[in-house]
Amino acid sequence: MITVDQALEKVLEHIDILEAEESPILGCLGQVLAEDIFSNINIPPLDNSAMDGYAVRSADTRGASRQSPRILRVIDTVVAGAISRFEVEPGTAIRIMTGAAIPKGADGVVRFEDTDESERQGIPAEIGVLEEIEAGRDIRPAGEDIAAGSLVLSKGMTIRAAEVGVLASLGRSKVMVIRRPLVAILATGDEIVDVAQPLPEGKIYNSNSYSVAALVQHYGGIPKILGIASDSEHSLMGRLRLGLDADMVITSGGVSLGDYDVVREVLAKEGEIVFWRVREKPGKPLVFGVIKGRSKAGGVSSIPFLGLAGNPVSAMVNFELFARPAILKMMGKKNLAKPTVQAVIEDAIENSDGRRVFTRVIVEKRGGQYFARLTGPQGSGILTSMARANGLVVVPEDKPGVKPGDVVEVMMLDWSEEVE
Ligand code: AMP
Ligand code: MG
Repeated sequence: MITVDQALEKVLEHIDILEAEESPILGCLGQVLAEDIFSNINIPPLDNSAMDGYAVRSADTRGASRQSPRILRVIDTVVAGAISRFEVEPGTAIRIMTGAAIPKGADGVVRFEDTDESERQGIPAEIGVLEEIEAGRDIRPAGEDIAAGSLVLSKGMTIRAAEVGVLASLGRSKVMVIRRPLVAILATGDEIVDVAQPLPEGKIYNSNSYSVAALVQHYGGIPKILGIASDSEHSLMGRLRLGLDADMVITSGGVSLGDYDVVREVLAKEGEIVFWRVREKPGKPLVFGVIKGRSKAGGVSSIPFLGLAGNPVSAMVNFELFARPAILKMMGKKNLAKPTVQAVIEDAIENSDGRRVFTRVIVEKRGGQYFARLTGPQGSGILTSMARANGLVVVPEDKPGVKPGDVVEVMMLDWSEEVE
């Protein structure tokens, strides 16, 4: 049986980076930029005032103080967005608002607080400057943020809120990004009933399609829910056909050794199995392969196919381990590893048969140190243990277990602040 690391390597070997497409800037949060972004403008475009005050010639303020103000004639007022028609000549000043272009002749701004404006009526004809300023004072120079012609954002970087803002500051409404993968999601099992339906005796609701679809969305993909197939090849194939235009197919259930576990049979017939079963707990019966699909051009494509075990925790854990990196790679990301922290474990965890064990925990920071405690019973059907967890303790294959007080590696699902 292959290890988690070997399995991940095999999955990623079958994953290609998707093509670039143009997207509105607000639609591409978390996507990877597919073009270098140069600026054809200075930002700010003009020297402008960082303060409300008076644009002056700094030489005119020499020796100014509260005791001996320098009196300047006020020749104009300029607001943000406007350009003064006047030039600041020696002995004059122009009243200026934050963000307004610095008028010709001026080389500094004296803030209102450093003038006697508050002692005068309305907009004064003259102003007393109470403080000496040096040239350049409270002027934001043109191009201070971005110089015209410079490279602002590089191809390959992930777009976050700040990058959206920077693109907007350049006047861009659209940008080239690696497109989001379409992920087809299929539940299997005669016992599975969709949400919002009556629940007949002996049946359970389909939670896997929804947790998996939510994870797909969370990591930047587009889920396409194909519904529920019963445990027959015919039903499975019928549903799968609806998803053969996707970039990846994810099924849940039907991959164990039971009489009705038909996912592997269908995958072997309609594609190729790359591996089945991984040395891990939970989620050992995972199957991975490729299935023949339809390319957009109408030809035959080869779609990565991940068959998750049906148990709701196994499905989610294996999604994090294998589907997440696959989605991130398709989206053009370089860093595919989930962040981990070192934590002191507060409960014992057993590893009886040499698998890599992933245990649901609540991680908290106390006194500069992370601590992790189990969420409670760890059965792979106990989905609420995932809902309580913000991390998974990783017990290596070669460790028989951990005991309270040991330092362990925890793969963070979410950061602790996000969990009660
Ligand atoms: P299987 O891998 O098909 O043997 O399923 C293992 C366990 O997971 C069984 O108890 C199933 O009832 C349960 N299960 C399978 N599919 C789902 C699903 N879509 N939602 C919730 N539980 C499921
Ligand atoms: Mg089943």
